[in-house]
Amino acid sequence: MPTRVVRVKVLFDARARIAALLWLVKPRVVGGDLGQATVRVVPRDLRRRVDELDATHDDEECGCDWRHTCASHQSMGGASHVIARDGRYGEVTEDDVKHFVCGVGGDAAGVVVSTSATATNLQDGGGDALDKYNVDWMGKYHGRSRVAVLPKTTEELSAIMARCHARNLAVVPQGGNTGLVGGGVPAHDEVVVNLGRMNAIVSIDEDAGVSVVEAGVVLEELESAVRARGMTVPLDLGAKGKCQMGGCVSTNAGGLRLLRYGSLRGSVLGLEVVLANGEVLDLLRTLRKDNTGYDLKQLFIGAEGTLGIVTKIAILTPRAPTNVNVALFGLDSFASCVELLKLARGRLGEILSAFEFFDRESLDLVLEQLKGTRDPLAKPCPFYVVVETSGSVKSHDNAKLQAFLKIVKNKRVIVDGVVGKDEKHAFALWTLRERISVALKYAGAVYKYDISLPTARMYNLVTTLRARLAPQFGSGVKVLGYGHLGDGNLHLNISCAEYTDALERAIEPFVYEYTRDERGSVSAEHGLGIMKAEEIIYSKDAKAVELMGAMKRALDPRGILNPYKVLPAATRAAALVPMSKL
Ligand SMILES: Cc1cc2nc3c(=O)[nH]c(=O)nc-3n(C[C@H](O)[C@H](O)[C@H](O)COP(=O)(O)OP(=O)(O)OC[C@H]3O[C@@H](n4cnc5c(N)ncnc54)[C@H](O)[C@@H]3O)c2cc1C
Repeated sequence: MPTRVVRVKVLFDARARIAALLWLVKPRVVGGDLGQATVRVVPRDLRRRVDELDATHDDEECGCDWRHTCASHQSMGGASHVIARDGRYGEVTEDDVKHFVCGVGGDAAGVVVSTSATATNLQDGGGDALDKYNVDWMGKYHGRSRVAVLPKTTEELSAIMARCHARNLAVVPQGGNTGLVGGGVPAHDEVVVNLGRMNAIVSIDEDAGVSVVEAGVVLEELESAVRARGMTVPLDLGAKGKCQMGGCVSTNAGGLRLLRYGSLRGSVLGLEVVLANGEVLDLLRTLRKDNTGYDLKQLFIGAEGTLGIVTKIAILTPRAPTNVNVALFGLDSFASCVELLKLARGRLGEILSAFEFFDRESLDLVLEQLKGTRDPLAKPCPFYVVVETSGSVKSHDNAKLQAFLKIVKNKRVIVDGVVGKDEKHAFALWTLRERISVALKYAGAVYKYDISLPTARMYNLVTTLRARLAPQFGSGVKVLGYGHLGDGNLHLNISCAEYTDALERAIEPFVYEYTRDERGSVSAEHGLGIMKAEEIIYSKDAKAVELMGAMKRALDPRGILNPYKVLPAATRAAALVPMSKL
């Protein structure tokens, strides 16, 4: 899959010069002032989406054409997402822009300014240099930043942060911008700090099985680099062609290999971080064992850019398996999927590397939206499971898999199944699961929930929600369930033509309350971002949230790092140190 290189506009080209002149002009935004959030509902032209997919997106999971996304004007509905701009933050001036250019060593390609008189051009059809930094992958969250800074080194980033800190300018750290909770795009006019140009692979140590990378290295690029040396990255996800290592660490991304390698909290050995005031915190060690005091790097893993900006990462890169098998099964009930998981754990043991499930509704959407996909089995089944094994002795692995297949057939746990006969076939089977997110994106609007629940009862939420929504919304609203069954992680998705307040009210807070009652988590792996900042209370008790506020206060007393995200507004406000005391 091709990796897209972020092309930036040059500050001193004609458009950017005009933009810089317009800097001090108060932006005018259709339908509201800057104090209101950026959310609006504009219906999609679904036919056009499908045509474009057919033409350009048939086998690319997330390399979306940003302009096309922006032009769709997709945005969140629901008054609950209207967040006022905090007047304590400064507004970027021409002088700030000059400092940023200075901060990146005078390299004009390192600062992109809006080429539009309004903060973002979404209202007049797109085409602004800032669009791709202001709009998320789903086209759901729209910011109004007027400047994106792309440092090349830690020192440059440090200088930029020192300026933002001194001027009280809010900042959004941004990686590949594939996050699914609106964390990586501005809520208002925050300065975007995009790590895309800090993309060097610093070292790969084959003996220790450790790689050190800059934050902007794209996951797939690291995978290719270590693969060439017989190693692998202990993380894989559908957005691998675009998401960056810094973004993955900052969201503590889970993905498809967590079952095998565990979470990034175990795989990341060290970090370098630029703090809110520009200071550099060096936690970059490659040691497997280090019990000297508190493990501070854990604070930044999963902090979603609210505590510091990750600039370098030391990560375990274990030996790559040499023998991989992929099987896809059709099952007639969710209970059978759970039974299959139990058998897989027992019979496949150490070679089991992934166990993913999806329902028929998810498969139908993939077949409908993604060109080149085919029904994998002769007859449709209500549920499907992808099982992957990874090992190093072919005869041993294959024998284990055959014994497993025999048992699940004899016990009638599965209805039907197929084993990938070669790499191409295995890839095609994986595609059906891996690209459900992409199919959902092209199908229209989607409400996404990423939930941890007790495995055996996980799917009850899907059926309960279907029963809840059907009477009011009919067949126009589809409820889909898929996810990382081996990790107890359900991706609950509600696909519809457009975002509406009525539908959102029917889903929320019901989904969160249901999850709380099951003692689950309202964010298994995507994070909280702006979407679920207030919803943390469904999964964490008040004392824990209060302690998180104390951490925020200690590391970012001015609250300039990714404001409006992760913590509830009241906690964030309490965490701010009054200006008079700074
Ligand atoms: C098709 C698809 C499939 C996906 N599958 C999975 C999956 O299986 N599992 C999963 O967990 N996620 C998944 N995701 C979500 C997303 O890809 C991950 O969350 C990914 O880790 C985000 O990386 P990014 O570089 O795009 O970060 P961004 O989207 O740019 O940012 C995400 C968050 O991290 C912060 N951030 C980014 N870089 C830094 C940095 N250097 N320092 C500090 N903060 C930073 C941002 O401020 C933001 O809050 C998927 C997304 C898509 C589109």
